[in-house]
Amino acid sequence: MTFKRIQFYFMSTNPSSLPVESYDVAIVGAGPGGAMCALGLKASGLRVAVLDKATFPRDKICGDALSGKVSEALSMHSPDLLKDFERFSEKLSTTALRLVSPRGDCLEIAFTPRHYSGSALGHISTRLAFDNFLVEKLRGAPNISLLKSCRLNSLSVDATGAHLFCNNRIIKTKLVIGADGAHSLVAKRLANFTVDPRHYSAAVRAYISGIRDTRPENYVEFYILKDILPGYLWIFPLPNGMANVGMGILSSALHKQRLNLRDKLLEILSTHPLIAPRFKQATIVDGVKGFGLPLGSRRFQISGERFMLVGDAASLIDPLTGEGIGEAMLSGNFAAKQVLDCFEKNDFSAAAMRRYDDAVYGRLWNSFQLHSFLQKVAATPLIMNFLVRKISRSTAMKEFVASMVEDFDARKKLASPSFYLKLLFE
Ligand SMILES: Cc1cc2nc3c(=O)[nH]c(=O)nc-3n(C[C@H](O)[C@H](O)[C@H](O)COP(=O)(O)OP(=O)(O)OC[C@H]3O[C@@H](n4cnc5c(N)ncnc54)[C@H](O)[C@@H]3O)c2cc1C
Repeated sequence: MTFKRIQFYFMSTNPSSLPVESYDVAIVGAGPGGAMCALGLKASGLRVAVLDKATFPRDKICGDALSGKVSEALSMHSPDLLKDFERFSEKLSTTALRLVSPRGDCLEIAFTPRHYSGSALGHISTRLAFDNFLVEKLRGAPNISLLKSCRLNSLSVDATGAHLFCNNRIIKTKLVIGADGAHSLVAKRLANFTVDPRHYSAAVRAYISGIRDTRPENYVEFYILKDILPGYLWIFPLPNGMANVGMGILSSALHKQRLNLRDKLLEILSTHPLIAPRFKQATIVDGVKGFGLPLGSRRFQISGERFMLVGDAASLIDPLTGEGIGEAMLSGNFAAKQVLDCFEKNDFSAAAMRRYDDAVYGRLWNSFQLHSFLQKVAATPLIMNFLVRKISRSTAMKEFVASMVEDFDARKKLASPSFYLKLLFE
């Protein structure tokens, strides 16, 4: 660093020259996790700062698929919010799924309303649109200050409160919610979070127009490819004839194989026998972009004295599917409830916060454990070839798989050897 740059660094970050603001609660990050937490505090009377380094609407690198957990989190907040989301026009509903095995066999399942609650199996909406839908619900609330272009640079917490040092202000607060995503500074500083590549995935995505053979049921497509295991390639249709196309893999496998995910995605789109013909006339709209996914396959303490972590900051991404939007929103709801409890009892101790960990893991841990196991099953090409071929040929098995979408006990059967034995003799 040259002398001039050092001088500029200190001049621009000298904390004593920044304004100091006081709040009851500071939520770092206005993604789905932070926004849901803030919504849960909207009627509380507490003074809440929601700070984000971005200005909304902002993009977030993602597959853009909104699972049933998103609707669950919205209705947990209030039935009216779920109704608003059902009216939200910048989304596309999906009712069908295609799973392609490493050998190239296709399993297609068209779901019917008896397989899912609500208006669809799931939805797809760009994060630019969906995250802004949530943030807009915060605007106008007198107790909530939305601080845009406000980047948290460092923070300290002691028994009396927390200090957040941002690029344009210092925030004093009684409680901090770390909702600052996969590279969370709050998680690193307050929970000593470190990346473990066995519990972390890397993924890239591209917005692509002009793909052939899309269907009116708006299939969400998953390709299990033997070079990208554990992981998969997805094609998710979006409104306006666009699609979100991407690929993710466990980071430990990525390092071992020395894969360049961006190059690999482009190679597959131009060479895979089932995919390439559909992409001949396609155009990549905004490049291929990548980001990390902290998986929920390991459990750690996601709160402590005067802080809680939500969403990606708390590593709450489903280890099998890579979904984390609904999980972030559910944890945001639980965090808001815990905030209210803390202020009611004037207790911000680590012991009090443990109720938050219990609520989050009480809802998510069983399925994370099962899905960690299934992640390993899905990474075995022989098993996936067998499963896809067998199930695609049996109407009864297809019906059984369709029932798994909302039935956790049915899904548990996938971990039982008797399921595979039964299938062998189908
Ligand atoms: C390629 C890819 C595909 C994915 N596909 C899907 C999918 O299809 N469906 C699904 O459910 N999940 C998917 N996920 C996971 C999903 O994107 C995350 O789980 C989800 O965004 C978590 O929400 P969050 O609110 O915790 O964090 P984020 O959405 O990441 O929000 C964090 C916010 O914090 C802000 N921030 C960060 N650092 C700071 C700072 N220092 N100061 C101030 N603000 C800060 C950011 O600007 C951001 O707005 C995918 C992830 C990737 C990488």
